Amino acid sequence: MKIHIMTDLEGPSGTNGRSDGIGNKTVNIPIACQVLTEEVNACVEGLLAGGAKHIVVWDGHGGSNSIDITKLHPGAELGTIGGDLYPVTFLDASYDAAVQLGAHAMQGVADGYMNHTFNSHGVANMWLNGERIGEIGIGIWKAAYFRVPTILVSGDDAACREAHACLPDGVATVSTKRSISRYTVINRNPVAVRTDLRTAAEQALRNVANYKPKPMPDKFELTVQMMCPNLADNWEKRGAERLDHATIRICGTDFVDVWSQYTGWAPGVHNRKFSVTPDLNRR
Ligand SMILES: [Zn+2]
Repeated sequence: MKIHIMTDLEGPSGTNGRSDGIGNKTVNIPIACQVLTEEVNACVEGLLAGGAKHIVVWDGHGGSNSIDITKLHPGAELGTIGGDLYPVTFLDASYDAAVQLGAHAMQGVADGYMNHTFNSHGVANMWLNGERIGEIGIGIWKAAYFRVPTILVSGDDAACREAHACLPDGVATVSTKRSISRYTVINRNPVAVRTDLRTAAEQALRNVANYKPKPMPDKFELTVQMMCPNLADNWEKRGAERLDHATIRICGTDFVDVWSQYTGWAPGVHNRKFSVTPDLNRR
């Protein structure tokens, strides 16, 4: 089985964040990166025990520089994206399951540790088809587009809650910390987190048939309220509909095309360039 792991840096145990006024800054980046890499490795161990044969880790935080490849488990490959807005992040229909590690809650979740949605200085709210969504949900939809089920999510309690809300029919979660507010948290001991990740990853993959990708609707409406109007200008210039001074909307029948437009591609270009096509008969 082939597994896609997406990582972020706010959700591992021990990431120490605070406010820079509006958004987040991490004050112990080397330690956070080390703990994340160790959590990834524990998950890889569990996935291999559960039957994985090919594991690709996407270093998903910022400029893809959170995972030290020299410390990565030998059973996994590492994908990095240096800012060219490749919107499907190595996912395609060849994967059997997706995992998110180090995840965090969407912007505005009061108890979500370092909560934000992609840009902690830019996005105030994001909705997909009328439902509020954050990075966890977008990751789940990206995988679902290719009919790949998300089987496991780790992060703070609020991130785990968000994963369950997005996948009410079931997803395994491992909490890394008990979040109290945006910058106050009690971290679980990382050794305990790794033990739980190993166990949860193995069990989830053994039961992969029980996890289903989200059913695809036939139209998508992505609405994004920016923190200030000039950010909305940028999307309007690229073709998004302007709903009010700070809010834009992108509509389409294809999730990846809608998401690609949000990440800067003109309509249809991404699919033409990368031949991104879901296998609709797969599940
Ligand atoms: Zn993030």
